[in-house]
Amino acid sequence: MSASIYIDGKYFEPANATVSVFDHGFLYGDGVFEGIRFYNKRIFKLNEHIQRLFNSAKVIMLEVPLTADALSAAVVTTVKNSGLADGYIRLIVSRGTGDLGLDPRKCKKASIVIIPSELKMYPKELYDNGISLITVPTRRNINESLNPRIKSLNYLNNILAKIEAVQLGYEEAILLNHDGYVAECTGDNIFYVTGGVLYTPASHYGALKGITRDVIIDLAKEQHITVVEAATTRYDLYTADECFLTGTGAEVIPVAKIDARVIGTGGPGGMTRKLIDAFKKLVAREGVAVA
Ligand code: PMP
Repeated sequence: MSASIYIDGKYFEPANATVSVFDHGFLYGDGVFEGIRFYNKRIFKLNEHIQRLFNSAKVIMLEVPLTADALSAAVVTTVKNSGLADGYIRLIVSRGTGDLGLDPRKCKKASIVIIPSELKMYPKELYDNGISLITVPTRRNINESLNPRIKSLNYLNNILAKIEAVQLGYEEAILLNHDGYVAECTGDNIFYVTGGVLYTPASHYGALKGITRDVIIDLAKEQHITVVEAATTRYDLYTADECFLTGTGAEVIPVAKIDARVIGTGGPGGMTRKLIDAFKKLVAREGVAVA
């Protein structure tokens, strides 16, 4: 891969793709980002990701120095330049460079970085047999402090939860919100099935409004499945018939166990399989073409 990383309108080889130590994204985690997938030279849900990025930026009062159309075009060109057919894009808008000190007014212009890469998903075995989750002590940020709907460069809340999960021998963690309701996982949304109804925590319980989450909700509705965005306790998860996670990187991954309780039959359930199937068909036919 050569000359493929976009930084503020120019392309750099990976070894030379560097940003300043005075970038406030580096100094303070001041910025927003998106993780986007492309399948067979088509960028999946590009408009939705760009829209969410602009919403995140608006909430933190960060002015993106390109229009949505120009930013989308930059993503398309970056993917094209990479020569990859399938992969993952990290799109970052940081506050930009400025003197030390929190005040965003020190940064004159936001900086845009687009990194295409090959994809690293969970091991295949977890897709076949299901992933095991653990609820960790770290709680999801409260909406009034740092709303989890902002996809910001400040991922320490999620990283702490990830560290706790890994320490305990798990790949992914369940985060509860301040009131003890299930919010989401460190990098994925959570769904569960009880009595043929599909549930997921409503985003105001502390979940990022995942693009994959929205896709799954739409696919379920197309299949006439009732979808409820609900207040979710761990009891609801433990007693569910099926459970799965969604995310741009993970796609849809079945959950086998939560806190040592076997969920349903312990493998991918019938509705989970149907939705995985529908998801795969959708990504094969949809997306913004690169070539
Ligand atoms: N929750 C968190 C905390 C995330 O970082 C992500 C993205 N990796 C998701 C959920 C899933 O969102 P999406 O489907 O848009 O990737």
